Amino acid sequence: MRITHWIGGKAWTGVSQRTGDVYDPATGQVSGQVDLARASDVDEAVNAAHEAFARWRHASLTQRANVMFAFRELLNARKADLAEIITAEHGKVRSDAAGEIQRALEAVEFACGIPQLLKGGFSENASTKVDVYSIQQPLGVVGVISPFNFPAMVPLWFVPNAIACGNTVVLKPSEKDPSASNFLAELFAEAGLPDGVFNVVHGDKEAVDRILENPEVKAVSFVGSTPIARYVYETGTRHGKRVQALGGAKNHMVVLPDADLDLAADAAVSAGFGSAGERCMAISVVVAVDPVGDELVGKISERIAGLHVGDGRRPGCEMGPLVTGAHRDKVLSYLDSGRSAGATLVVDGRGHSIDGDDAGFWLGPTLFDHVGEDMSIYTDEIFGPVLSVVRVPSYDAAVELVNANRYGNGTAIFTNDGGAARRYQNEIEIGMVGVNVAIPVPVSYYSFGGWKDSLFGDSHAYGPDGVRFFTRTKVVTSRWLDPSHGGVNLGFPQNS
Ligand code: NAD
Repeated sequence: MRITHWIGGKAWTGVSQRTGDVYDPATGQVSGQVDLARASDVDEAVNAAHEAFARWRHASLTQRANVMFAFRELLNARKADLAEIITAEHGKVRSDAAGEIQRALEAVEFACGIPQLLKGGFSENASTKVDVYSIQQPLGVVGVISPFNFPAMVPLWFVPNAIACGNTVVLKPSEKDPSASNFLAELFAEAGLPDGVFNVVHGDKEAVDRILENPEVKAVSFVGSTPIARYVYETGTRHGKRVQALGGAKNHMVVLPDADLDLAADAAVSAGFGSAGERCMAISVVVAVDPVGDELVGKISERIAGLHVGDGRRPGCEMGPLVTGAHRDKVLSYLDSGRSAGATLVVDGRGHSIDGDDAGFWLGPTLFDHVGEDMSIYTDEIFGPVLSVVRVPSYDAAVELVNANRYGNGTAIFTNDGGAARRYQNEIEIGMVGVNVAIPVPVSYYSFGGWKDSLFGDSHAYGPDGVRFFTRTKVVTSRWLDPSHGGVNLGFPQNS
């Protein structure tokens, strides 16, 4: 199967110089070839978006909202088809794919309210007969560059708001699972979005670099690993663009001695191993505050043993394979490095039974205990089904550990003490905090974003920050003379 770009409202008909393999991670087989764009292919998409912007920026708020409502209905009606595409290229199980689409739908629903969201301010008589008001206008062509781990949701964190605000978009999805983006493009076309408003170019660094350099691209929303996020932010801003670049994570879940340990163990397992740990909000470190360590590790191990790992298309599977063989091998290497650094390998994922093809990119859930802060299994973002337990003597030591970490995406505290939870949410230097909630992804009418090395820029994704990011504000100061007084400004009426 060939997977190609979507430019100007239709599938690209050009010939690509380079292509990349796309895999079915559950079988290890190549399932398609994706075209990898050259700079000139990116320019073609940007030109289509630029031409479409001249008209789309004048589309009425009603028209924009109507397209979003129609897109929302189509996405909802076709969500089973999209889930199938996601599972086939990413590997996550059906329920995870369905969950991703549900969160994407919420982001679309937010953008349906665009007439309300774009209301400006108005001050009558700022000076005598002088009115001042603000309007929010679109930027132009915006680039969206997304990671492999949420091939539908992450593009839809940005695209609906960008389009509803009057911009046009060039999306460069991950080359590892590119088909979901083309599916979204077809749905947008069916929803009545004019040609050229939403374009997809597939590719790698070459395509990303051209998006960052093309002067017609006015803003870039990026999500991916921290080194690339930093590069995109620095390069894009150097080229005069507005950039938000969301990076990697190492999310800690602190368990206090008074916590409900069954609840905490359930949460650690679902947040640690859901989507095979390939989530930027996955829990990768459990911080066990003395004396809960032994009991908590026991409860987590018991639950891991019961996890059904296999082909995401098979009923009942709770965790699928990793996205590629290369990524699986990299994650595997941490099992040896953790053990040789002195951590206790409590559960070795290599021994877990797999309900799937032997050639798939498998690694079962893995648990390390007594992990030290200087070990690479603690310092690196592994992005796989490897959960580390760090034991600390006190609440203060837990806060110190989390705050010292270079990442600041998400964190959670499990406790029955409201005062401790309130103190934690106040003291912790992390962008998204859960209290007895392991994966605190904000709902679509808040915004999503981490601190420190987890986000470069000053805007978070979607919600109110999304509308601000995709618009610029203009303030108008206006004076109209009153025609009933011969155009002369008489000040206050004399006979009123
Ligand atoms: P990645 O950084 O490898 O790739 C992200 C995007 O950048 C892809 O479109 C890719 O084609 C492009 N890219 C890759 N290498 C590049 C280079 N050298 N120059 C320019 N562009 C390049 O990330 P990934 O492996 O696809 O996704 C996983 C990462 O994304 C993890 O680090 C995860 O934490 C992060 N992530 C973060 C969030 C968040 O909201 N903070 C959400 C999802 C994923």
